[in-house]
Amino acid sequence: MRALTLVADRKLELADIARPPAPGPGEVQIRIRAVALNHIDVWGYRGMAFAKRKMPLVVGAEAAGEIAAIGDGVTAFKAGDPVVMYGALTCGVCRACREGRDNLCEDVKGVMGFHVDGFACDLVNLPARLTIPVPAGVAFRDAACAPIAFSTVEHMLFDNARLEAGETVLVHAGGSGIGTAAIQMAKQIGCTVITTVGSDEKGAKAKALGADHVINYRTDRFEGVVRKLTAKKGVDVVFEHVGADTFAGSLLSLKRGGRLVTCGATSGPSATLNLMQLFQQQYRIIGSFGASMRNIRDALAKMQAGLRPVIDTEVPLADFERGLQKLESRDVFGKIVVMF
Ligand SMILES: [Zn+2]
Repeated sequence: MRALTLVADRKLELADIARPPAPGPGEVQIRIRAVALNHIDVWGYRGMAFAKRKMPLVVGAEAAGEIAAIGDGVTAFKAGDPVVMYGALTCGVCRACREGRDNLCEDVKGVMGFHVDGFACDLVNLPARLTIPVPAGVAFRDAACAPIAFSTVEHMLFDNARLEAGETVLVHAGGSGIGTAAIQMAKQIGCTVITTVGSDEKGAKAKALGADHVINYRTDRFEGVVRKLTAKKGVDVVFEHVGADTFAGSLLSLKRGGRLVTCGATSGPSATLNLMQLFQQQYRIIGSFGASMRNIRDALAKMQAGLRPVIDTEVPLADFERGLQKLESRDVFGKIVVMF
């Protein structure tokens, strides 16, 4: 079967590898139909000194497919069912897993496509407990954006930042995969959305998606514009994932008692923090990584109800690398999806 493997930093190879065995007890075998790209794929592609992994590694961290076969004892699925997969090998038995806080599993065996083999291949065996049904009417290319991008946004905005109707949220990089999802989800519950973009062309697209105010961060200091737009009060919530370039400005954009939630650091991992500002302004800074299985189900339900991911580009498996390079260059508005 086909598998796209990382053989060295910045080197992918389309290989012909052995099919997985028949699924074992409690497992399902999934035929992959679509893989969506995220910044975690770019990090893996560039190489990260601290990431423990063995090459060649099958890439692809976020995907949708259909059940090809089921193992003994699996009753929740049958052949042909469309599914998405939880992309981290959680233990299923620790306290965090039992309480549905899957992304805090105390014995996780790695993120698929990053630490261990991922989804960019024809067939994958996985425990059925990590497999989530896709509701009727949701296409594979859209469903493929649920396990990481859409669920991460769910977890950030609603579990962590506790965003509520009527609040104002600053969404950084409104043209990114998670930025486009955040704009849509915040507007859906009745928030005012301010977003930053790197070009006027992306600004027009963000407005069309529902953003109330768009700031081109290349021509304006976003924190100054946010103060003006909010009559010097600041926003209730900042949705961060840019990191070094924006973190200080993000804190300055918050109102007293505001919440900053972050899941990324695409411009660099380090920032300084004024502790006086932190406690006097009573900010809450919340780190967020991944999502729970519930967040993925909720994201899929929203897709079924009509909230569709913004897809920038669909590419075939052979162009996976070109997709990664496009994502790395930030020349995207929405998601890049690799179709099988
Ligand atoms: Zn666990």
